[in-house]
Amino acid sequence: AAKGDAGTTRPTKMQVSDEVAVQMVDVNKWFGEFHVLRDINLTVHRGERIVICGPSGSGKSTTIRCINRLEDHQKGKIVVDGIELTDDLKKIDEVRREVGMVFQHFNLFPHLTILENCTLAPIWVRKMPKKKAEEIAMHYLTRVKIPEQANKYPGQLSGGQQQRVAIARSLCMNPKVMLFDEPTSALDPEMIKEVLDVMVGLAEEGMTMICVTHEMGFARQVANRVIFMDAGQIVEQNEPHAFFTDPQHERTKLFLSQIL
Ligand code: ADP
Ligand code: MG
Repeated sequence: AAKGDAGTTRPTKMQVSDEVAVQMVDVNKWFGEFHVLRDINLTVHRGERIVICGPSGSGKSTTIRCINRLEDHQKGKIVVDGIELTDDLKKIDEVRREVGMVFQHFNLFPHLTILENCTLAPIWVRKMPKKKAEEIAMHYLTRVKIPEQANKYPGQLSGGQQQRVAIARSLCMNPKVMLFDEPTSALDPEMIKEVLDVMVGLAEEGMTMICVTHEMGFARQVANRVIFMDAGQIVEQNEPHAFFTDPQHERTKLFLSQIL
């Protein structure tokens, strides 16, 4: 279980609610014979910002992909915003409407403009009038500092700009939880900061965030909790200061010595 409570050192606007946003109880998953997730227990409260790190292949992506059912689990329970994820497609849709996800490789629709990328789901999933959807899209594109790119296509933008579009696109759905899967690891160094700045802004506004990232500066700055995974298990978790200065497990120490 989590040892620290970073909440005491954070500004009031970053306070965490008692309400549970995401709960994973004894979650196990197999890919065929391969036991990829082992007894994952994770409770994320509304307003919390979780960073997940760990070696490649440790199950970080699979864990967060289970939260919006991009992957299914075979054992245990996952509850998102009060809805338990089962085979019930209606519930899966409901959860996906509330959970935004940003991937390493942006996953924008290449044949749609930036504006159309942002309005597609609000129009088709939320049944929002086009004009309203465009207003909201321009609001978030302004917020990620690229309103002037609205009528271009993804291929005309830099990686950092495309990733900011991906974040804006998620925000247009007004998600309750945002999942990030190594959002900066495909970016050139000079573009990493512009994406992290947007993520820090979101965190400061109280967004519930679960971020797989090895950006430890980001973790120090905004995370309530850092979780270390290895071989499909949560090995250790703590508030950032303690996590970085006083890791308990050998595997965590080894990992930190390799990335810091
Ligand atoms: P991480 O994000 O920590 O690098 P992943 O969650 O992507 O790790 O993968 C965990 C393990 O599961 C890896 O060994 C990977 O090869 C395997 N894996 C991931 N996706 C699949 C899949 N669709 N089918 C089979 N094995 C998979
Ligand atoms: Mg991954």
